[in-house]
Amino acid sequence: MPDLNDMSSPASADHVPASTTPTQEEAEAAVRTLLRWAGDDPAREGLRDTPRRVAKSYKELFAGYSTDPVALLERTFEEVEGYDEIVLLRDIRLESYCEHHMVPIIGVCHVAYLPRSRVVGISKLARVVDAYSKRLQIQEKLTVQIAATINDVLQPRGVGVVIEAGHQCMTTRGVHKPGVSMVTSRMLGDFRDNPVTRRELMSLIGQRSSRMFET
Ligand SMILES: [Zn+2]
Repeated sequence: MPDLNDMSSPASADHVPASTTPTQEEAEAAVRTLLRWAGDDPAREGLRDTPRRVAKSYKELFAGYSTDPVALLERTFEEVEGYDEIVLLRDIRLESYCEHHMVPIIGVCHVAYLPRSRVVGISKLARVVDAYSKRLQIQEKLTVQIAATINDVLQPRGVGVVIEAGHQCMTTRGVHKPGVSMVTSRMLGDFRDNPVTRRELMSLIGQRSSRMFET
């Protein structure tokens, strides 16, 4: 298991300085190169607009690089009538991309926290998942980043993040093992320190894990 502590900072080091951002033309030329590398002819009719489409879709697939996950959690609500039990958002669809092979990682993410005095809009938790997953990732780092950001910004009594995902780099290529899912978790605060609280969370997650991911 690699040491994940150095990856726990929500302040992302993944952002590319603007000066190194390629132009649209450079991106399209790179796609044409890869098409030739695959053995096809970028000039044939069916592929003529492909570089433009791929360059455009990369903006969507990797939208996380232009999203600040911390800002997503800044608006919170304090009128919660003392609610201090687990808040769990289960089965958040996760679409990410393996940073080693640039192919999809598809799965679900479960995000939980134990509020201290304030809560956040639940859709914001899903947006934090998107902000980190719409980047080139490894699942371990993704799990740590989501948990660390929620912990740092909301400062709750505990945070738990569990990801179950299939990696196309091992289902459609390499060892070709479809149906295999990888599970990672990051527990902080009470979820880490208190076995009862941790068990309660894992049982809530397990009650109806929908296995929505496809490999
Ligand atoms: Zn991979």
